[in-house]
Amino acid sequence: MEKIYDLIIIGGGPAGLSAGIYASRSRLSTLIFEKGRMGGQIVITAEVANYPGSIHEEGSIDTTGPKLVARMVQQAEHFGAERIMKEIKNFDFSGDIKTVTDENGTIYKARSILAATGAVPRKAGFIGEKEYTGKGVSYCATCDADFFTDLEVFCIGGGYSSVEEAMYLSKFARKVTLVVRKPHFRCPESIVEKALANPKISVMFNTEVISVEGDGVVERATFKNNVTGDIWTHEAHEDDGTFGVFVFTGYTPNTEIFKEHLEMDEHNYIITNENLATNIPGVFAAGDLRPKLLKQVITAAADGALAATAAEKYIENHFE
Ligand code: FAD
Repeated sequence: MEKIYDLIIIGGGPAGLSAGIYASRSRLSTLIFEKGRMGGQIVITAEVANYPGSIHEEGSIDTTGPKLVARMVQQAEHFGAERIMKEIKNFDFSGDIKTVTDENGTIYKARSILAATGAVPRKAGFIGEKEYTGKGVSYCATCDADFFTDLEVFCIGGGYSSVEEAMYLSKFARKVTLVVRKPHFRCPESIVEKALANPKISVMFNTEVISVEGDGVVERATFKNNVTGDIWTHEAHEDDGTFGVFVFTGYTPNTEIFKEHLEMDEHNYIITNENLATNIPGVFAAGDLRPKLLKQVITAAADGALAATAAEKYIENHFE
């Protein structure tokens, strides 16, 4: 007879892996699908300094993204979770037994489903952006501010998150420059006033970053004023050797496939109740694909643990 899993998890990032650990340890038969690399966004990070327990005894950080992910995968498999490295392309959540279909058209069945497909930070689109990610270019102030203590940083974007994160970065950096493409911000004036009252923060309107470059780390960035056409290059101060370019142009949740099925907010984040249940009984959502204040490994992992526990209760009440 075709196997019916207790829980199928779509997405092998921190949320999906944490759910895999909790579910399989609770003796739920669990299958995780991952379309790219196990670990999701965190896998490209050289140093995860804020995840509890990531500090070495001597005080250095010994946790890289790949190392953390490898341990999570090992832990999930240790408790019996299975994984398949394939993209889920389709599903049918209408019955008690739900199905998902992978990229080869193979159908898998489960009593409950966890959507943990994450989100991706939007790119600004300048030359060198991908190459220097983690080497000066960052998308996360909470993750990386500390690396820029007493250095200069640029915040790309004129929205709420850029201004908020500029204020956060000013606690670490020597100087913070907001780079705004338009002649104005796209957020409440009260927040802008507060940010610009900070002596460390300044703003360049009508400005875009065109490229970053350097020898291994960002050492220079070229900007363009899109009204006057002026182009100039900012060089890292001799004593600094580098500076930060933080991109805050928003996130895109990976929720396209769930559209028209799972309830979402206006930005396509999946709405859940406090136990991470979606509008469809037996379907849960965890991690960065939910609207939340803090998109981090710790919140994704916490979501995964809670969703797996909620799935277990659902199966208990619904099937036994
Ligand atoms: P994701 O990590 O996005 O994982 C979702 C997974 O689902 C992906 O692997 C994706 O391939 C897969 N997927 C999507 N669609 C499908 C499908 N249809 N079928 C199968 N698989 C699918 N957080 C920290 O706590 N500390 C840090 O230092 C830190 N640094 C960061 C640095 C960078 C550059 C970035 C981008 C993020 C960083 N974060 C950090 C944030 C952290 O990585 C995320 O909050 C976390 O990974 C979210 O986990 P998630 O499981 O919800 O989603």
